[in-house]
Amino acid sequence: MSAPALGGVQVPRGSGEVVRLPRGASLSDFADRINANPAALVTVMFHLGEMVTATQSVNEDTLQLLGAELNYTVQVVSPEDEDRELLESFDLTFGADEGEDDNLVARPPVVTVMGHVDHGKTRLLDAIRHTNVMRDEAGGITQHIGAYQVHVEHEDIDRAITFIDTPGHEAFTAMRARGASTTDIVVLVVAADDGVMPQTIEALNHAQAADVPIVVAVNKIDKEDANPAKVRQQLTEYGLVAEEYGGDTMFIDVSARSNINIDGLLEAILLTADAALDLRANPDQDAQGIAIEAHLDRGRGPVATVLVQRGTLRVGDSVVAGDAFGRVRAMLDDNGEPVDEAGPSRPVLVLGLTSVPGAGDSLLVVEEDRIARQIADRRSARERNAQLAATRRRISLDDLDKALAAGSVEQLNLIIKGDVSGSVEALEDALVNIDLGDYKDEVSLRVIGRGVGAINENDINLAIASDAVVIGFNVRPAGKAGEIANREGVDVRYYTVIYQAIDEVEAALKGMLKPEYEEVQLGTAEVREVFRVPRIGNVAGCLVRTGTIRRNSKARLVRDGVVVADNLTVESLRRFKDDATEVREGFECGVGLGSYNDIKIDDVIETFELREKPRG
Ligand code: GDP
Repeated sequence: MSAPALGGVQVPRGSGEVVRLPRGASLSDFADRINANPAALVTVMFHLGEMVTATQSVNEDTLQLLGAELNYTVQVVSPEDEDRELLESFDLTFGADEGEDDNLVARPPVVTVMGHVDHGKTRLLDAIRHTNVMRDEAGGITQHIGAYQVHVEHEDIDRAITFIDTPGHEAFTAMRARGASTTDIVVLVVAADDGVMPQTIEALNHAQAADVPIVVAVNKIDKEDANPAKVRQQLTEYGLVAEEYGGDTMFIDVSARSNINIDGLLEAILLTADAALDLRANPDQDAQGIAIEAHLDRGRGPVATVLVQRGTLRVGDSVVAGDAFGRVRAMLDDNGEPVDEAGPSRPVLVLGLTSVPGAGDSLLVVEEDRIARQIADRRSARERNAQLAATRRRISLDDLDKALAAGSVEQLNLIIKGDVSGSVEALEDALVNIDLGDYKDEVSLRVIGRGVGAINENDINLAIASDAVVIGFNVRPAGKAGEIANREGVDVRYYTVIYQAIDEVEAALKGMLKPEYEEVQLGTAEVREVFRVPRIGNVAGCLVRTGTIRRNSKARLVRDGVVVADNLTVESLRRFKDDATEVREGFECGVGLGSYNDIKIDDVIETFELREKPRG
């Protein structure tokens, strides 16, 4: 292994060996793997134009750059692989049922309701829930915990169906983006009076991408202008063909408001599940599931709604969920009733965690508290590093000056606080995915902080330090936070509707864009004569051919179809002896182009102005 002088330091060079590093690794981590002195790597990076310290988390580009320079193949381990390796080191795996086929028992389908805004998702989820109202009356008060289960009699058997009751595809996508597939069936709600709309298609795309069967609920059939046949016909274009038209998708006409045919929808869900899916899980193993919602409850501490996917979760179990851990102190169902154990597909509210997990985080039961704590600690350290690496602005000696001088970097920093982690993540996910189209190189958006709970002083301080806008979703400032924000002029915005937040941020981003101008032609005039005017120069006697000629507008001179002079201005404009501000098509006028005198008969003067282009 040679040791060439790289900027005067000795660094062992590789010969293409693979160096595996976690996200957010530091130069020290790199140095460890190749037996080098971390300080030497700092120097190498400096010579490559980047100032980083040995222990700071760097992003993947930097690791790759360093690898290429030193002739190593850098592989940044994906978060999923990292987590798998972490669990393996404790002899654990997430996601697969233990045992053989015989150990698997049928489990209820888990359903997510998606569709265009206002098509009735929320109302439908309410209506479905109330089909079980008789049953509920025996229990406590209905609680919104992020999911609920209903029971239906189907072919003389009592069957359960689990509904995730965060409607909308943001939550679905955010979970899927984190590798958590919780949904077995998607109910696509389409209002019969409105038909297929953009978010209908988006929802459909998400469901199809996730390979999840769809049941279409054609809603609002109580309305006079309802046209359920049209919905069926529209959706055939997207590959959803109704059974009655020879396809294999069930379309069910319902009215969430008038409670029509909700049973039919539930039946269709079960039929679709039985026909298309083999939903089974092993109930007799340590429980595993997904946290679908979590928040900090003033009285009860962190609470998380967990959808058990396999095994049976019991009070007293040691669990780890994302970077939260603890022992299940109590479990409640969606009626607020205590439960001792929860099997596959059952959503329960879990109390006893030490912190609030994220929506989409996996939950595992482990042998003892100590293991849960170790896994949680390792995950949070890793997450911290990865975030540091992602949020740190790369300072490149080469580019910094240029970027600042050119003003080409425009970045909107955001801090998102929300009442439940599901909404924070859904919002973050939606915001970072705002489609900026052609402008994505000019502006960017970065979420530099996020969390569940009230907006606190920390959030405001972070906003001050990084010039960020704070977004409060269903939360308000606590303590002195509001006061400080006011005093320091921090922009804090409150929303209760995700779409509104997205729209405003999108508008803000587009407002940050530098205006772009486009040329708008005003008029053309043909030169008929050229007059010499003492002390003024040549003036063109013209006939306005198209549009209007305006004084002070920009002009160019065209001769035989070729632009002979650009960047001119109509400095004087006369109608006979009088000054005019504009002269319209068909009239004659005298045009002076300032000091530009090379005007010939038959030239064409084109005038135009620059207008700011609206950003689309
Ligand atoms: P979401 O945005 O998809 O969750 O839609 P909502 O459930 O909030 O419903 C939007 C509006 O449509 C509300 O005013 C509902 O009362 C109304 N709505 C929902 N379902 C029906 C229905 O079956 N019939 C009628 N007439 N109105 C409905």
